[in-house]
Amino acid sequence: MYFACAKHIEQAIDEFLDQYEVSPDLNRIEGDVAGTDISVRCRFCAAPPIYRLS
Ligand SMILES: [Zn+2]
Repeated sequence: MYFACAKHIEQAIDEFLDQYEVSPDLNRIEGDVAGTDISVRCRFCAAPPIYRLS
């Protein structure tokens, strides 16, 4: 499972495709992060993620 901010979502999709060879399901998690895991960050920077790829 990957997490990505708005800036890095395309990069995250590319890397997900390389890793799993299937298209990820994108789930928008903006506003919901605090309720799940506050340590979650974008895979490519320190920003709070907007999307979860699974
Ligand atoms: Zn990012």
